[in-house]
Amino acid sequence: MTPVSCQQIPFECGAKRMTSSRARSIAILGATGSIGRSTLEVVEASQGRFKAAGLTANSSLKQLCEQAARFAPKWVVATSPQESASFDWSVLPEGVEVSVGQEGIERLVTQPEIDVVVSAVVGSVGLRGTWAALEAGKTVALANKETLVMAGPLVMRLAAERGTAVLPIDSEHSAVFQAMQAGRRNDVKRIILTASGGPFRRYTSQQMAQVTVEQALAHPTWDMGPKITVDSATMMNKALEIVEARWLFDLPADQIDVVVHPQSIVHSMVEFLDGSVVAQLSPPDMKLPIQYALSYPERWPGPAEKLDFRGCFHLDFEPPDLGRFPALGLGFEVARSGGTAGAVLNAANEAAVAGFLDGRLAFNQIVPVCRSVLQHHEFDANPDLEQLIQLDNWARREVTRWSCS
Ligand code: NDP
Ligand code: MG
Repeated sequence: MTPVSCQQIPFECGAKRMTSSRARSIAILGATGSIGRSTLEVVEASQGRFKAAGLTANSSLKQLCEQAARFAPKWVVATSPQESASFDWSVLPEGVEVSVGQEGIERLVTQPEIDVVVSAVVGSVGLRGTWAALEAGKTVALANKETLVMAGPLVMRLAAERGTAVLPIDSEHSAVFQAMQAGRRNDVKRIILTASGGPFRRYTSQQMAQVTVEQALAHPTWDMGPKITVDSATMMNKALEIVEARWLFDLPADQIDVVVHPQSIVHSMVEFLDGSVVAQLSPPDMKLPIQYALSYPERWPGPAEKLDFRGCFHLDFEPPDLGRFPALGLGFEVARSGGTAGAVLNAANEAAVAGFLDGRLAFNQIVPVCRSVLQHHEFDANPDLEQLIQLDNWARREVTRWSCS
C-alpha cells in the first residue's frame, strides 16, 4: 500500500476515501470540550452523514451522559478512573457501553466500525489516543496540536506506515491544507499563518506584567477552552502552530511565516513560487474546519457561520511584534531544532499555563519559564517516544520550581 501522509493528500491521492453511503462513524476524544461540542453540532446538522459512535470525557461525566442521551453512541469512555469510580452511572442511557482509562480509549479507537477519530483532548495527554488511533489505521482529525508539537516526526511517520492520514482541524492548518490544493507541493514558496494577536495585541510590556486570569481568558474573536485561550494571549498558541505546521506539512521553519490579522477571517495562506497567494476565508467558527476534516475530500453544506459580503468589513494585516511576544521566536527556534525541543516546550508551557491559572505564576513569566526549561534540557536530535514522555514529565517538574514571588 502506498503510504499516505497529510502532506501528500492535497496533491496526489487523498485519505482513504469514504464514499460508501453509510454514515461516517466518528469517535470524539474530548467530546465535552469546546472542539468536542462543536463536533457534535456538526454531527447533529449532518442529516445522518456522520454518526457519533464513541465519546470520551475526563471529569465532565454528567455532560458525557447528556451527550450520550442525545447522540446514542455505542461507546463512552471516562478517561479518569477516579472520576468514574465516584460517578453514578445509572443516568447513562441503556445500551451504551462504558469503559474507563487509557484501555477504554484504545478499545474505542480500534473498533472496526470507527472511520474517523477526532483528537480533541487538551494537552500532551492527547498523544496516546491519537497514537492508538493511527496504529489502528484510523483517519485522525486532529485538533490536539500538542500531539504534533511533542512528537511530530514520530506521529507523521506512524501515519505514513499505517497508510492513513492526519487531517487538520486547527483552523490555520485547515486553511493551509485547503489552499495547498491550488498548486503542486514543490511550487509552494511559503505558508503564512495568521494570528489574531489575542487580547493584548496593543498592550505594552508593562501592561502585560499586570494581566489577570480573567483578562487572559477573554479572547476577542474565538471561544475556546481555557488552556488554548491563555496560549493565544501569550501567542504561544502561534508558536505551537508553527511547530505543528512544520511536521504536518513537512516544511522547514524558513518556509513558515506569521502575520497578525485581528479579524480572524483569513485563516492562513499559501504563497506559491509565482507570487500567487491563496487564502481560505470564513468567519471565526471552528465548525467549518471540523466538518472539512470529517467530510474530506468532499465538501458538504454545514452549520458554520457564513461570510456576508453585503456588510462592510476590513481585513487588516500587520507583522507580529517579536519583542512583546517572545513566544513566537521560541516557536521558530523549536521548529528549526526539532528533536526533543517540541516536547519540552509544550510540557513547560502546559505546566506554566496551569501555574498562571492557579495564581502561582504571573502572565509575563509563562514564556521566560518555557525558555529557561528549554535551554536547560538535554537535547537529542532523534528521540524515541519513551524519551519524549520522560522529558514531558521532567519539564513539568522543572516548572514547579518557579513562582510569582
Ligand atoms: P477544552 O478544555 O474545552 O476541552 C478539553 C477536552 O479534553 C474535554 O473534553 C476534557 O474533558 C478533555 N480532557 C481534559 N483533560 C483530560 C485528560 N487528562 N485526559 C483525557 N481527556 C481530558 O479544550 P478545547 O476543546 O479548547 O481544545 C482541545 C484541543 O483542540 C487542544 O489541543 C487545543 O489546542 C485544540 N484546538 C482548540 C481550538 C478551539 O477553538 N477550542 C482551536 C484549535 C485547536 P472534561 O470536560 O471531562 O474535563
Ligand atoms: Mg489555530
